Amino acid sequence: MTESTTIRWEQDDTGVVTLVLDDPNQSANTMNQAFRDSLAAITDRLEAEKDSVRGVILTSAKKTFFAGGDLRDLIRVTPDTAQDLFDGGLAIKRNLRRIETLGKPVVAALNGAALGGGYELALACHHRVALDTPGTRIGCPEVTLGLLPGGGGVVRTVRLLGITDALLKVLLQGTQYNARRAQENGLVDEVAETPGELLAKARAFIDAHPESQQPWDRPGYRIPGGTPAHPKFAANLPAFPANLRKQTAGAPYPAPRNIMAAAVEGAQVDFETAQVIEARYFVELAAGQTAKNMIQAFFFDLQAVNSGANRPQGIEPRPVRRVAVLGAGMMGAGIAYSCARAGIEVLLKDVSLESAVKGKGYSEKLCAKAVSRGRTSQEKADALLARITPTAEAADLAGCDAVIEAVFEDPALKHKVFQEIEHVVAPDALLCSNTSTLPITALAEGVERQGDFIGLHFFSPVDKMPLVEIIRGERTGDEALARAFDLVRQIKKTPIVVNDSRGFFTSRVIGHFINEGVAMVGEGIEPASVEQAAAQAGYPAKVLSLMDELTLTLPRKIRTETKRAVEEAGGTWPTHPAEAVIDRMVDEFGRTGRSGGAGFYAYGEDGRRAGLWPGLREHFTKPGYEIPFRDMQERMLFAEALDTVKLLEEGVLTSVADANIGSVFGIGFPGWTGGVLQYINGYEGGLPGFVARARELAGRYGERFTPPALLVAKAERGETFTDAR
Ligand code: NAD
Repeated sequence: MTESTTIRWEQDDTGVVTLVLDDPNQSANTMNQAFRDSLAAITDRLEAEKDSVRGVILTSAKKTFFAGGDLRDLIRVTPDTAQDLFDGGLAIKRNLRRIETLGKPVVAALNGAALGGGYELALACHHRVALDTPGTRIGCPEVTLGLLPGGGGVVRTVRLLGITDALLKVLLQGTQYNARRAQENGLVDEVAETPGELLAKARAFIDAHPESQQPWDRPGYRIPGGTPAHPKFAANLPAFPANLRKQTAGAPYPAPRNIMAAAVEGAQVDFETAQVIEARYFVELAAGQTAKNMIQAFFFDLQAVNSGANRPQGIEPRPVRRVAVLGAGMMGAGIAYSCARAGIEVLLKDVSLESAVKGKGYSEKLCAKAVSRGRTSQEKADALLARITPTAEAADLAGCDAVIEAVFEDPALKHKVFQEIEHVVAPDALLCSNTSTLPITALAEGVERQGDFIGLHFFSPVDKMPLVEIIRGERTGDEALARAFDLVRQIKKTPIVVNDSRGFFTSRVIGHFINEGVAMVGEGIEPASVEQAAAQAGYPAKVLSLMDELTLTLPRKIRTETKRAVEEAGGTWPTHPAEAVIDRMVDEFGRTGRSGGAGFYAYGEDGRRAGLWPGLREHFTKPGYEIPFRDMQERMLFAEALDTVKLLEEGVLTSVADANIGSVFGIGFPGWTGGVLQYINGYEGGLPGFVARARELAGRYGERFTPPALLVAKAERGETFTDAR
């Protein structure tokens, strides 16, 4: 018998064995080879020493209970190595099954997060107790990485909760519950307040249930709520595909489909067969491209971005204590809330006290909602609101160590408001502008300390959107960049860092998506098909409806200014076919977007969308004119991807991870792609395949699809776009 290395065996004199998960080589326990070996050895020992074992407690010596599968291994799985993954997975499942059917009570004492593989270990136990700490998160988030819980998670949640609850509460959304909510939803049986209570409750279960069995191993067991073969259940079944369509809008996310199939098929067969079905669907996902894309973006890239790969080294963090937010409009109000929520004192300044108070009203609304939904306490909400002081007086900003400006998008006004306050705030205060389009270097000319000036581009609605784009101007110093980065992390958002350029990364790239959609309408394609193509490509907002939200006049204004700047610098402006459509919409039809009451869509009195404007078909659509649906989708995706490569060429973007994360979190590039550059990596045929397809699109739809030199060179060298793994 081999002594286990990552699972420690501790037996007391009453015969209770505590299995302590404690990988000596990692800060968290994962399902790596060492764990697999240990699990096998521990299972053998439990069986061999069964007579002296009264019960088993599974817990961990780490901060988290168990972190789940090792994503470094999973991202490398190919169709060729898929069989190994299948076999390895089944081996774990078999060992868990042996422990589960030992005839002795086994209790999971969850001392911290038990997500994915961690929760699957807990599911194989007869009883689950969770410690109520802020770090305790419970659930199966695999779907968010394009995977499914392949360690028995589908099989057991279906048998524990019934198919409907398993799918909706655990598997399809990947919800992560705190200890209390996990108990309310049936994921755990008990909650403990202290580590002592956790172990005491685990022991109490063992004492009370000397011969434990899983519900599904008891005679006469039926899956709660019935199985698909049952007439009552069958009546509910058609709701699932509809639900699935709603979740994915027809975009290529294979995980929800495989999860549903594994759950429904697995519910109709015995436990062992269900485990094999689950393994098959799991391996299919792991060997596929979408899971690789999503693991790359939502694990590796996100970690790289948040951990500060782009933050200048050697600069001591200095948390912001008092921030001045200039402009209490839509963005300023949201920024004030996000800062106050993070414990920062906020001075919210507008032209009048009345406007500033109105801006604070936004936080009041959000707080009231959070309290009514039980997401925060009244006390905490009151404290948050007490941190926001509305004002119209520059003098009140004395002592602020950071300023975030969010007044109208007008350079002269922005210069003016900075001049008003530059000498009132702390002499070394960080000076940030939330402009969405104006070059930072030129804006900085309005302040004396240009080294402390930086762009901090938030997204709307600020309280929900996780991304902030930090824009480094030509004269922005390292210290300012580091402090801006730290401020974004302080308010628990994700910072990407780009160099200054008109529209930076996000505003410029999203413009290409919108332009392509509008160009297709101008070409004569049915507007409804254009919207459908965007939805099925996986964009969260349809392209023409997004155009209406942003207004048609804003891009026109930006275009005019950019064109002037380009021509003044001696360049030529590449006219985009979308421009003529937008000009006609505004000049001929007076349709400026949602705020103007009419755009690509018609709007009712109440401001709600009332369908696409019928005039579009009359004035633009060429009856019978069609292009392949795939071309429609890829024109939008490629337009964004190709411009992102140009931004790398131009040095506006300096990191692949920033591009991937920024595109998905900031501007709705479809998540299944893993981000705008990972989309190129994962395209059929890799970079060479992407280049060939771009050339094809250029031949059919215009020069703008010609692949940039950097892309061609990388394809020729056999490289991909990666900087984090
Ligand atoms: P908004 O019109 O809702 O708010 C602007 C606010 O600034 C108003 O409350 C106005 O009273 C106030 N203001 C004007 N002059 C002022 C002064 N001298 N001192 C103090 N306050 C003054 O605009 P918004 O949508 O919040 O946008 C603000 C900035 O954020 C703009 O630069 C915009 O480009 C940028 N931005 C907007 C979005 C978006 O989605 N709306 C996204 C990112 C960035």
